[in-house]
Amino acid sequence: MALSPVLSRHWDEPRSWTLDTYRSHHGYRALERALRSDPDEVIATVKDSGLRGRGGAGFPTGTKWSFIPQDPATPAGAKPHYLVVNADESEPGTCKDMPLMLATPHTLVEGVVIAAYAIRASHAFIYLRGEVVPVLRRVQNAVAEAYAAGYLGRDILGSGFDLDVVVHAGAGAYICGEETALLDSLEGRRGQPRLRPPFPAVAGLYACPTVVNNVESIASVPAIVLNGVDWFHTMGTEKSPGFTLYSLSGHVTRPGQYEAPLGITLRELLDYAGGIRAGHRLKFWTPGGSSTPLFTAEQLDVPLDYEGVGAAGSMLGTKALQIFDETTCVVRAVLRWSQFYKHESCGKCTPCREGTWWLVQILERLEAGTGTEDDLDKLLDISDNILGRAFCALGDAATSPITSSIALFRDEYIAHLSHGGCPFDPRLSSLTAGGPS
Ligand code: SF4
Repeated sequence: MALSPVLSRHWDEPRSWTLDTYRSHHGYRALERALRSDPDEVIATVKDSGLRGRGGAGFPTGTKWSFIPQDPATPAGAKPHYLVVNADESEPGTCKDMPLMLATPHTLVEGVVIAAYAIRASHAFIYLRGEVVPVLRRVQNAVAEAYAAGYLGRDILGSGFDLDVVVHAGAGAYICGEETALLDSLEGRRGQPRLRPPFPAVAGLYACPTVVNNVESIASVPAIVLNGVDWFHTMGTEKSPGFTLYSLSGHVTRPGQYEAPLGITLRELLDYAGGIRAGHRLKFWTPGGSSTPLFTAEQLDVPLDYEGVGAAGSMLGTKALQIFDETTCVVRAVLRWSQFYKHESCGKCTPCREGTWWLVQILERLEAGTGTEDDLDKLLDISDNILGRAFCALGDAATSPITSSIALFRDEYIAHLSHGGCPFDPRLSSLTAGGPS
């Protein structure tokens, strides 16, 4: 399967982030087209395209937009509508939205104007991870350029449509990538998930109808509006159409962003990325970031779309393909991810707040070779008590690397106990080159 650069096509051009460069590649032409259509037609186009949310859940974007109550005669429809872009990318291994906003922020800004027009919102917010200052500045500058050029503000391109965009710098909490925690944070409160229902489409930001979309989802909209639904369906699979950004990181020869039709396999992506680093072999990988169950070389030919990855026992998530070769200790990798989830647990619910701490304590002693075999059952038991019982998806996410790694690499956990420490530690063992058998 060939790569399909659409979002990333102009990333390598000089000053790709400027309005002039963007306009030289038909930038803002999709907006002109959208503004000539009825907002409902724009929603129908995105719905017919089958674009699925690129933030992890894969919910159809156009359907999400259509949930916004539009009848001004109803209490919900009479309230202001808001568009919120979730640019708080922070899942370990996930690094697609930041490069996109750094290289071509106007793709996002144009998508924001089209989406806001479609859902009849006159205010939009881009909630961006504040630590990534260069990206923040790029997006702020792009918004300022768009205002100056008449793509934002009053009477956009003479259409009568008004839109103001606020770029908000988040303070660096992973949980604020959860859409309702993001909304609480945006309102000035501590970022913690909300009980649903009501869903954001009915009572989101300031208790008003709100669409929350991922950066890549919104940035994909201009290309769909400009090139049409049929063009979008020439890529991807029937249920997961279109192109998407796959982020390859770790032990690959050429890590980076590879934009391809949904349904490409890791084997094909590795061909483009120069394969596993020289002299080594694939040991395990994540299909969608650290919160998705691990795969091994057996899943090299699994189609990387929502259905294919799901059928193989994991999740497509954010398409963050973290690749690990045989020199990696899986226990250590899982411990590091678990430390992350422990640190980022917002503390609202007991299973996650307590459970992630217990998981880390047990993993620490297993990694150090001071645990017991019973600890593996304890890890699985705690994971079982978090999964499905935590308040939000962070709790579930914390269990995925643990349960999947024990299922796939139980022997390696045991090897830590029999070696009295990590068998990959050259001071303890000669297994470094090949890993425990
Ligand atoms: Fe907070 Fe974790 Fe509970 Fe989510 S699962 S609400 S992050 S404590």
